Amino acid sequence: MSTIAAISTPNAPGGIAVIRISGDDAINIAERIFKPAGKKRVSEMPGYTCAYGAAYDSEERLDDCILTVFRAPHSYTGEDAAEISCHGGLYVTKRILRAALNNGAENAGPGEFTKRAFLNGKLDLTQAEAVMDIISARGQRELKMAENLREGAAFRKAKKISETLLKILGDLAAWADYPEEDIPEVEPETLLTELESAERELASLVANYDRGRIIREGIATVIAGKPNVGKSTLFNCLSGCERSIVTDIAGTTRDVVEESVRLGEITLRLSDTAGIRETSDIIEGMGVDIARKRLDSADLIIAVFDGSCPLTADDFDLINKIKNKKCIAVVNKSDAPQVIDKEFLESEIQQIVYLSAKENTGVELLQAAIETEFELNEINYEDVSAANERQKRCIDSALSCIREAAEALRGGVFLDAVTVLIDEAEQYLLELTGEKTTDAVVDEVFSRFCVGK
Ligand code: GDP
Repeated sequence: MSTIAAISTPNAPGGIAVIRISGDDAINIAERIFKPAGKKRVSEMPGYTCAYGAAYDSEERLDDCILTVFRAPHSYTGEDAAEISCHGGLYVTKRILRAALNNGAENAGPGEFTKRAFLNGKLDLTQAEAVMDIISARGQRELKMAENLREGAAFRKAKKISETLLKILGDLAAWADYPEEDIPEVEPETLLTELESAERELASLVANYDRGRIIREGIATVIAGKPNVGKSTLFNCLSGCERSIVTDIAGTTRDVVEESVRLGEITLRLSDTAGIRETSDIIEGMGVDIARKRLDSADLIIAVFDGSCPLTADDFDLINKIKNKKCIAVVNKSDAPQVIDKEFLESEIQQIVYLSAKENTGVELLQAAIETEFELNEINYEDVSAANERQKRCIDSALSCIREAAEALRGGVFLDAVTVLIDEAEQYLLELTGEKTTDAVVDEVFSRFCVGK
């Protein structure tokens, strides 16, 4: 395989930067562009050792550097590899990369180092995907989930289920191939018990998917409410900056402003929308239309009411619209005298938070309500769950094959038909771990990585 090189640190000035080189020729290329200060020769450096020296492009000295050498298979990619740590200036880093390219390396594509680690059997596909999740983790929960997968939890679980399926397939094959021999008949009862156990294991892998997705991607949240209840003020208070227009004139928040905000360990993907009341204003009407669609697709609706005014027809309308949806009512303006019909609201909506967006008081109550609504404090990080749509599709497909096989068995269908379904489930598990998958799937997975990882 060719030797690849890339800058692995961010494209911004920093304390240090790292240029990574991997492939059969990595150490030769490092020797051509790095001169150790001591007598050590790069080609003779053992794996996991460093040398202090300087990087050069031909005769031009570029920077003081540290070179770290890795010898195959004991490197991230499983190949010979070298990492040059230099001062973190953009120009100097690019010059050292250019020197590596001038001396025989090729530019690495997105995620190509991790892709090579996968192709060399260092990681399965779920672990490779977890590497990207570690990089994008914004908080403790995301990091823990990603770390669990990186460490191989999903892979091990898939393997365990796969072993059960392979054992069943083996029994079925022996029985079907040698009917005259003294092989005990496969008891449908035993088979069913084994299938049901595989079904439970698979179901547990997708059971917490939505909660995991919400932690990783954030909660798609809509702030809804009639004009002037304080939606924009709440939005600004949550996002910590003046992003949407706040005025006293009803209906001035016309289009949808989106912003990701962190509320403790939670990420809210907030859209501040035009009020959802009926309107004759065409421009505002467009905003209202979008608002309705968002209301239907949101993970969470924060329904805002004005605590200093009685409930109106628009409020009742909103209460009706959000019934049976995941929602939290925010009764805003708690700093002003309260006249809102609390009793009625409490009889209609389960979670209600009283706060003042203007004074920024009570926002922590909203955070606690969201944690409760999504049961975020009840997550057990030891529980493995599908980490993305690809993984979920594989598990769902395997699960429906197993369910169909169990159903067929209960209905007294021939064992050959059951065998076909179990075999199909096994194929989906191999696709999950990447042991049997197409180049297109692998390319798709790694295309989401950054260059240098
Ligand atoms: P929106 O139309 O729902 O987006 O409402 P705005 O955020 O534009 O707020 C409407 C008016 O209510 C503005 O004058 C805000 O200053 C005021 N307001 C918003 N939140 C509070 C609050 O917590 N307390 C009080 N007293 N006034 C508020």
